[in-house]
Amino acid sequence: MNPLDQRIDYLPTNPGVYLFKDRKGMVLYVGKAGNIKHRVHSYFQRTEEKDAKTLTMLEKVADIDAIVTHTEKEALILEDNLIKEHHPRYNVKLRDDKRYPCLRLSIEEEFPTLSIVRKIKKDRSLYFGPYSSATSLRETLKLIRRIFPIRTCHNTRFLNRIRPCINYEMGQCPGPCCGKIDPVQYREIIRQTRMFLEGKNRDLLARLKRKMDKESEQLHFEKAARSRDQIEHIKKVIEKQKIVSRDFVDQDVIGFYREDHTVVIHPLFVRAGKLQGGRGFTFPSMGLPDKEVLSSFLRQYYREDRFIPERILIPQSIPEQGLAEEWLTEMKGKRVWILVPQKGDKKELLQMACDNAEKFLIAKIDYEEERVKLLEALKERLSLNRTPKRVEAFDISNLQGGDAVGSMVSFEDGEPTKERYRHFRIKTVEGADDYGMMYEVLLRRYRRAVEENDLPDMVLLDGGRGHLNVAQEVFKELGMKGVDLLSLAKARRVGDRRFHIEKLGEKVFHPQHKEPIVLGKQSPLLRFLDRIRDEAHRFAITYHKKVRKKGTIRSVLEEIPGIGKTRQSELLKYFGSVEKIKEAPLEALMEVPKMTPKSARSVYDFFHPKQK
Ligand code: SF4
Repeated sequence: MNPLDQRIDYLPTNPGVYLFKDRKGMVLYVGKAGNIKHRVHSYFQRTEEKDAKTLTMLEKVADIDAIVTHTEKEALILEDNLIKEHHPRYNVKLRDDKRYPCLRLSIEEEFPTLSIVRKIKKDRSLYFGPYSSATSLRETLKLIRRIFPIRTCHNTRFLNRIRPCINYEMGQCPGPCCGKIDPVQYREIIRQTRMFLEGKNRDLLARLKRKMDKESEQLHFEKAARSRDQIEHIKKVIEKQKIVSRDFVDQDVIGFYREDHTVVIHPLFVRAGKLQGGRGFTFPSMGLPDKEVLSSFLRQYYREDRFIPERILIPQSIPEQGLAEEWLTEMKGKRVWILVPQKGDKKELLQMACDNAEKFLIAKIDYEEERVKLLEALKERLSLNRTPKRVEAFDISNLQGGDAVGSMVSFEDGEPTKERYRHFRIKTVEGADDYGMMYEVLLRRYRRAVEENDLPDMVLLDGGRGHLNVAQEVFKELGMKGVDLLSLAKARRVGDRRFHIEKLGEKVFHPQHKEPIVLGKQSPLLRFLDRIRDEAHRFAITYHKKVRKKGTIRSVLEEIPGIGKTRQSELLKYFGSVEKIKEAPLEALMEVPKMTPKSARSVYDFFHPKQK
């Protein structure tokens, strides 16, 4: 009996979590089961029924760990924690785990605000969404503000105003900061906003109509005209919204589609009966049954900080459905139902979500085929050793040598893989020495990559022949072979303003080509390289600005007597910016951790010097 079989034989039969590990002890897969031994055993039986990816994983398994739990619910939570900790390669991963924007109505405040957030907190605010596009949400917010005048300022500003801001002058805020509106009247605006966001438009319209009639009866024609405009705006919004459900319950409808070893899950967001949008996710199925993939998706998708609707429609029941409901209810603080609709409106909605999942996969396959063609064309046109499936691109950002930083972005199969992005603070180079900085960044990145055998197919630099030479030097020093190297020089203008102006195209420098390669301006190959180079540039600039801002902020705070590094950090953590610290009243400064009455006074006096 081989050691792995022996190990399986000794596994417990209790509920819990199992971890597949490779020879180096790296966790390959984390799973949970009602009976650990039984589940693990099933993996190693009838291997002919498993897909290629699962078989590759099983070949790598050298050891198995098991953790027993009292209940399956504990196993569920433990599995989730272990996946978060180890990021196992073979677990179903929700790669696009970015949070969708939501609207937050802070009803717990005396004068609430409406803002866009990406995280749902366990506070007493009301959350609406998620919205699949931040741009359309900003438009919605703009529209809501046009209909309902709600304050837009942050609390520190709100508390310190002596006069209302421009929004008041423009009629976009009733000026609660300076007592221009009664809290009860402001509450009424919030109430209407809430009704609008909850889709109770018919009631809202009736309410506004009554208000308008009353205003005209009392000869308040200006106010009545404002109410009439509000009614018109709301009617226009309603016309545009597609009603898909006759009840007003918030629900996510989870579309599911499988083709060979790919699974697509496509949630549609239905809020107050209206379809707000949706989004697709693809996964390799890992040989797992549909139910398992769906269950794993739901657990990752509705982790903390996400909007959880009251109802989730799924195409088939999942293992431990009751447990999942319990867990979601606990997180939402309100009953959540997971339903498998059999007929009627809900079933139709689910069919729509599943159709969306299928269409999503078709579009994705087409896109991927195009991308494969593009990468092959790039290899051929630029005489590369490999197809550039993984590309790393670098850029340097500094201001006359000050606060210099380097950036590295990574693209796989033509798409950014942000978890691989890296920043570098330049440590060894002084002054504006671009080549020296590039040398340092490349050496630091690839010394480590060589050690970890983590090299890309191609390296792309922002620059010309000089940058390319620097990179070649680094490659030589580290004995890096087979990795392609290119640099992309920006277009530049020649001639002078009065006479001939010509914009020269971008040039691609290649170590084996004496002359740079010029790709046509409209070439998709150039657009592809441009996109990667621009992303590296964007990433470097953003980081550089952050570093500089931090330096500037610190240098302002450093001037205040008695405010050392710890207090500087606490102040920034508490207020978020120097502007807000400047505006804060003395009492607010005293509330900051680590501040004493004396140090708070020192900060206050610094920003409010006494007139002599
Ligand atoms: S008027 Fe006052 S309450 Fe309204 S947005 Fe301006 S500062 Fe805030």
